[in-house]
Amino acid sequence: MVTKLDEIKFIDEVDLRNKRVFIRCDFNVPLKDGKITDATRIEAALPTILYALEQGAKVALASHLGRPKGKVVPALSMKAIGEYLVPALKKEVILTDSPDSEGLTKLMDNLNDGQVVLLENLRFSPFEKKNDKLFATRLAKSFDVYVNDAFGTAHRAQVSTEALAHEIKEKCAGLLIKKELEKFNQMLEAPEAPFVAILGGAKVSDKIGVITNLMDKVDSIIIGGAMANTFMVAKGYNMGKSLVEDDAVEVAKQIIEKAERKGVTLNLPVDFVGASEFKNDTDFANYKPENFPADKMALDIGEETRENYRKIVLYAKTIFWNGPMGVFEFENFAKGTLAVAVAVTKSESYSVVGGGDSVAAIKYLKLEDKISHVSTGGGASLEYIEGKDLPALMALKS
Ligand code: AMP
Repeated sequence: MVTKLDEIKFIDEVDLRNKRVFIRCDFNVPLKDGKITDATRIEAALPTILYALEQGAKVALASHLGRPKGKVVPALSMKAIGEYLVPALKKEVILTDSPDSEGLTKLMDNLNDGQVVLLENLRFSPFEKKNDKLFATRLAKSFDVYVNDAFGTAHRAQVSTEALAHEIKEKCAGLLIKKELEKFNQMLEAPEAPFVAILGGAKVSDKIGVITNLMDKVDSIIIGGAMANTFMVAKGYNMGKSLVEDDAVEVAKQIIEKAERKGVTLNLPVDFVGASEFKNDTDFANYKPENFPADKMALDIGEETRENYRKIVLYAKTIFWNGPMGVFEFENFAKGTLAVAVAVTKSESYSVVGGGDSVAAIKYLKLEDKISHVSTGGGASLEYIEGKDLPALMALKS
C-alpha cells in the first residue's frame, strides 16, 4: 500500500541535539579494485547526515555493502565509504572494527563535534539478514534515535531496516525516504493522463506484480527488452534463439487479456534487432516477428518500434520507466533504450525512473536533470509500485 507522509515521522520532526543517532543509509555502491565507481547512493544520503550533524547529533552511519554472507570479507569493508565521507562531511570518520563492536556505546557517548562513526559492513554479521532480535537489542543500547534513510533496502526485513526500529526509543525516516515517497505517491495517487508505464529488462516474472498493479492506473504500457520476446511467444511467434522465459508465457498471455479487458493499450514491439551472437561485435539486422530467423536472437527493439515508442512517450503526461529496451550494455543494441531515454526527457511529463539499468541509461546520457525523479531504489521501488507493504516503512509506522 502507499505510505502516506503523515503515517511516519521524519528526521526534521525529531529533537536530535546531543542524541546518539543511528542512521541506516544505503551505501551499497559498486566497487572496482577497492575504489567506488559510482557514488550516487552516498551522495543521496548526504542531506540527512548533514542535517543530523547540523542539529548537534552524535551520528553513527550504517549500511551493508555487497554480499559478504555473514562473514568478514576485507574487500567489502566500509573503508572506501569512510574515505569518501571525510571530505563530504568535513569530519573525522571513525570506522568500527565490526558492526556491533564492543566499545560502541563508549564511542558514541564520547563522540565530539568533529567526529562521525561509521559501523563496519552490517552484513559481516550473520544476524543482520536474519532480522535477529538479540542483535538488534545489542545495537540499540548505544542509541537514542533510529533513522532509516535506506530506500534501496526498504523491501528487506533485516535488523538495520526492521528489528532495530522497534528497539530504539525514537524512530523516524530520513530525507531521502521522504523524497522517494513524495515522488512515488504523486505518480501513483494523482497521475495526469496519459500515464505510460515503460517496462523492459530480462524477465516478465520479475515484473508481473508491477504490471498488474499499474494496469489499474495507466493508460498505456510499453514493453521492451527480453521481456518482449516472452510476450511474442505468448502471441504465437517464434523468436529463434532469443532469450524467452518459458515459464512466464502463460502469465504473458494473461497480461495481454487483462489489458484488453481493462482498456489499457499494451504496446509490444513490431520489429526487433536480431543478432547471431550475444556480443557487441556480431552481425545484426532488423526483423519482423512474423519472419524472425531461427538462428538469430533479438537483442533490441527494432527501428519501427523505436519510432512508435518515441511518439507514445512524447505525448505522455506521466511516465514510469523500469528496465532497458535491449542489451544496452552493448553499443550496437542500445539504440532502443537510448531513444526511449531521450523521449522521456523531451516529453513534458512527470517522469519517474526506477531500477538500476534504466537509471544507468539516463546517467550515461547525462539526462538526470530532465527527469522528475530518479529513484535510488530498484527492488524497493518495484515492490512499492506493486502495492506491497515495505517492511522498513511498516516498522517506522508501528
Ligand atoms: P532487469 O534487471 O530485469 O531490468 O534486466 C536488465 C538486463 O536485461 C540487462 O542486463 C539487459 O542487458 C538485459 N536485456 C534486455 N534486453 C535483452 C534481450 N533482448 N536479450 C537478452 N537480455 C536482454
